[in-house]
Amino acid sequence: MAKNDGNTVIYQIYPKSFQDSNGDGIGDLNGITQRLEYLKNLGVNMLWLNPIYLSPQIDNGYDVQNYYQIDEIIGTFQDFRNLIKEAHKKNIKVILDFVMNHTSDQHEWFQKALTDKNSKYHDYYLWQSTPDGKVPNNWASFFGGSVWEKVNDHDFYFHLFDKKMPDLNWHNPDVRKEMVKIAKFWLEQGVDGFRLDAFIHIVKAPFSQDVLIDKRGPQIVEEYYANLPQVQDYLSEFIENIKKIKKDVFILGEAASANVNLGFDYTNPKNDMCNSVVTFRYLKEKNNLQDYFKFNKKYLDMQLVKKEISKWQHGLAEGAYPTLYWNNHDMPRILSRFSVGKNMRQRLAITLATLMYLQRGIPCIYYGEELAMRSQPLNNYQAYEDESIFPDIADAKKHGYSDRRIRQGLADNQKMSARLPMQWDDSKNYGFTTKTPWLKGRASSVTTVAKEENDSNSCLNGYRKVLQLKKEKLFIDGVCIILKTKKDIYAYTRELDNRKALVICNLNSKEQRFPLNEDDYKPVFCNGDYEIQGHEIILGKYSSLVLERESRV
Ligand code: BGC
Repeated sequence: MAKNDGNTVIYQIYPKSFQDSNGDGIGDLNGITQRLEYLKNLGVNMLWLNPIYLSPQIDNGYDVQNYYQIDEIIGTFQDFRNLIKEAHKKNIKVILDFVMNHTSDQHEWFQKALTDKNSKYHDYYLWQSTPDGKVPNNWASFFGGSVWEKVNDHDFYFHLFDKKMPDLNWHNPDVRKEMVKIAKFWLEQGVDGFRLDAFIHIVKAPFSQDVLIDKRGPQIVEEYYANLPQVQDYLSEFIENIKKIKKDVFILGEAASANVNLGFDYTNPKNDMCNSVVTFRYLKEKNNLQDYFKFNKKYLDMQLVKKEISKWQHGLAEGAYPTLYWNNHDMPRILSRFSVGKNMRQRLAITLATLMYLQRGIPCIYYGEELAMRSQPLNNYQAYEDESIFPDIADAKKHGYSDRRIRQGLADNQKMSARLPMQWDDSKNYGFTTKTPWLKGRASSVTTVAKEENDSNSCLNGYRKVLQLKKEKLFIDGVCIILKTKKDIYAYTRELDNRKALVICNLNSKEQRFPLNEDDYKPVFCNGDYEIQGHEIILGKYSSLVLERESRV
């Protein structure tokens, strides 16, 4: 297992939304290559690209039709090799999304499986037959409805996500071999690793089991299809095989529902599975949903967030680093989880970066968060690609919510609003494309890279300073202790050898006081306002401060 994971700073790129280079309104590989210098200057050293494979784009590339082809909307192999070459020249690694739980229904394997029960590909997928033609069980898909899709009077296939994304049968050794072959192919193209999409779901419980509750209709039942013990067997085997091809392959696992104990297993260097995993458990939400308005902001419960992150800071095996993140393409952007006025937005964004990324672990920054981009309303409801919003919209209207409120509510909740194009400069479409962008919506305030570049107080430059600090050994390997504080203060210490840092972040709209029990601390980074009065720090609204001292021992 690689020893220097703590130096890693990942930047997640949603390729379709980053930079269009050929004027078709869709971001592409050459666009990413054009922006490598920007990424280098930001301080990142690994890029994670969301899927680039040939795909019908039912789920924006997570429905893979051919793992060995790049979708032409994203680029060519030549573009890809060039991106890798240029990134490596700048010491930036590139990891690809690896979709291992399912394929597209347009994949050749599934097409053969569907048309010929005797084909060897039939057993690449999960099938059930029922004599009465009723669904085999009451399990629900994450994308709504049953996990079962009927193909004739009696036969069904299993899909945990969209019905056009059938799940693969990982019990079949040929499927496992195919997956290694695909990984090998991409490693030979020069990629440095993978982000394993939905890997925790590759094994399912016996299908004969219903969820034993009285509620009608399909039920989400993670205990039957997430984190089952055999996942670890198949994962280990997969990793062992791909390490024969590239010893230091970097593996970022998506383990949405994993608790810290599972996180321990998945990342324990002794088990040799993932270098780090992304859990969705950090972002504990306040329960403020009302039955008739499904689109309230998803505010965070910061005490619970602190508690959960603290578990991950201390609960992983020696040598394993947690992933530190606020955003990804599946959730609202972090600034849309706070109520903060325009003037304080950038300040809060830098405070959130200070809070999260100076802890022990691997920062994973989602494109545009360094500009304080928010989730924004899309131009029309269809663009959310989610049929389930329509009954909720109708319900909200019935209860008197205005169109404006509903549009904003959708932005605060729907994942497509977090995927709007990057804002580069003041030219047409903020420099993302010269044509019509593939996804249209309101832009995030007036922020652009060009504007922020030369403003020393900008969010972009705040991110750069935080990531600069992150390179220091103290912030890589120092012991991290999260302190018990008021709800809206997030504070922790990092300590290594004779160095110690205190990081204090104020998430409140009013100034806060914080006791300073030790002398000799010197500020090394400040965002916003602060004052030290004797043994107390007064930290301005939404401000953050990093202090450091040589310890006296
Ligand atoms: C990805 C999602 C995707 C799903 C199915 C994930 O967890 O992050 O965007 O819809 O897997 O592939």
